[in-house]
Amino acid sequence: MAASMKGRKCLVIGGCGFLGQHLCEALLEKGWSVQVFDIRSTFEDSRIKFFIGDLCKKEDLKPALEGVYCVFHCASPAPLSNNKTLFYKVNYEGTKNIIETCQEVGVKRLVLTSSASVVYEGKGIRNGKEEELPYASKPLDYYTETKILQEKAVLAANSDDFYTVAIRPHGIFGPKDLQLVPIAVDMAKKGKMKYIIGDGKNVVDFTYVGNVVHGHILAAENLNLGSPICGKAYHITNAEPIFF
Ligand code: NAD
Repeated sequence: MAASMKGRKCLVIGGCGFLGQHLCEALLEKGWSVQVFDIRSTFEDSRIKFFIGDLCKKEDLKPALEGVYCVFHCASPAPLSNNKTLFYKVNYEGTKNIIETCQEVGVKRLVLTSSASVVYEGKGIRNGKEEELPYASKPLDYYTETKILQEKAVLAANSDDFYTVAIRPHGIFGPKDLQLVPIAVDMAKKGKMKYIIGDGKNVVDFTYVGNVVHGHILAAENLNLGSPICGKAYHITNAEPIFF
């Protein structure tokens, strides 16, 4: 049974990003006390306490984690940046830093935004089940490689004293998206989308941002000692794949 979260303090790491901003709004509506940690500032809201810092630095993170009930980790360098060193540093080493700092400060819950790409081997997946899908042996790109390392670290950290869960969206769309749809529209305008991969019947599961947020909040509400979700990963979909 989900506990009431009214007044509970949470920290949204990456809260100034696309998903993070939606998550903050939904958490506020549910009565959570919301704090944001991000390396940049993109908006203002008098209901939110902001911490500007680098998640790779313990001294930046510590003050933001004091007294926090649940941490949502949805920070990452942009996938298109293609910066290997940065992906490894932020997604893997930075995530290990978050885990360690949470444990030092006494935070007990961590919800990670992972990615559906961690199980993608280049072949279509229909009716896949999380418990049956292994991590990709040949990840699509270096971003995905570090998302796998990150998710493994978070789920391995789950214990009787520290509860963790990973949410795996794919291709998030919705208001405030600066990447998926704007980039696709730009490519189309430049005439770069006039080809078909495969036989044209491929399916891809884009996820509406509201559904991704809902998954994160359900995860936080149910992340307690002995809960079946502890240490597990969950894909978030829109129920039906979008055909194109
Ligand atoms: P985004 O780029 O809009 O937001 C990420 C935020 O992380 C930014 O505000 C950025 O400033 C912050 N950040 C980056 N490095 C940081 C650091 N060192 N310290 C503190 N903050 C830092 O990205 P998004 O689309 O909102 O994605 C959120 C999460 O969802 C990411 O983990 C991403 O891997 C995952 N994801 C996104 C999609 C998608 O289609 N957008 C799909 C699957 C998974």
